[in-house]
Amino acid sequence: MANQVKTMVVVGGGTMGSGIALTAAQSGIGAVVVDVNAEQVDRARAYHSKTLARLVEKQKLTAESAAAVAQRLCYESDLEQTRHADWVVEAASENPEVKKRLFSAFVRIFQPHVVLATNTSSISITDIATAAGERASHVIGMHFFNPVPVMKLVEVIRGLATSDETVERTLELAKTMGKTPVPANDRAGFVSNRVLMPLINEAFHAWMEGVAKPEDIDQIMLLGCNFPMGPLRLADFIGLDVCHDIMMVLHRELGDPKFFPCPLLRQLVTAGRLGNKTGRGVFEYPQG
Ligand code: NAD
Repeated sequence: MANQVKTMVVVGGGTMGSGIALTAAQSGIGAVVVDVNAEQVDRARAYHSKTLARLVEKQKLTAESAAAVAQRLCYESDLEQTRHADWVVEAASENPEVKKRLFSAFVRIFQPHVVLATNTSSISITDIATAAGERASHVIGMHFFNPVPVMKLVEVIRGLATSDETVERTLELAKTMGKTPVPANDRAGFVSNRVLMPLINEAFHAWMEGVAKPEDIDQIMLLGCNFPMGPLRLADFIGLDVCHDIMMVLHRELGDPKFFPCPLLRQLVTAGRLGNKTGRGVFEYPQG
């Protein structure tokens, strides 16, 4: 079945959801951002208008195109109001219970042909799909990267029950959105976070043990390994709470102690120092 995606619902309007919606709208797809937190809906709206204005300012987009993209974006606090959509990307908090509750609501709300994709970083697609009952064949992992409008990769993860058609439609949509889809199997953290999170965790341990100051840990990885961004700054960028939650899933599912979040990372999360999004994490971001 060829894709005719006119309207995508993005559930969760945080760091990832707002980026996914903007990218969809820039590819000609109508995007509705749904979040339970009204402030987050306002933040997503502000992020969209600021980003579009900046693109016009830098002459990467004409004012007319920016206005057309803005028209394709809308915002909702009630999921029930989005039942006309023909694609769902869930980008809510990295918590299996939250995601499963949402997927059982999706089955009730959306038409049977609608693909129910999750942007989870680490949770099993097969597990999330159990909440979708007979619609498990339409559940798939569509793992975007931050910042979504810039990063090319979409890791595409099929669960045990995902149909070939759902996979094909997802690959096609990812390409329509200007992305490069790469398949990965349904193991905790897939490829990206299984490899990345131990690196980030080890950087926190090195900091905690006083091996080097955080800026020096990052600088060493930047200059010594040719990383474009140090692991601690990347953790701030991802969100320390998101890193923590992903590590907990990896630890639970794979049983290896190396995945258990470093005490210093846990402490920063407890203190509400979550990274760029709160203005302070490992480093400080006075402009937010
Ligand atoms: P975030 O904390 O910035 O945003 C999550 C949003 O979900 C919040 O605004 C919250 O209010 C909302 N939410 C929670 N429950 C909801 C519900 N029932 N209905 C609607 N909205 C709900 O988190 P994020 O960084 O955007 O991550 C979202 C998802 O994307 C997670 O699964 C995460 O693992 C994954 N992810 C994150 C990154 C990253 O770099 N941050 C990268 C790839 C994937």
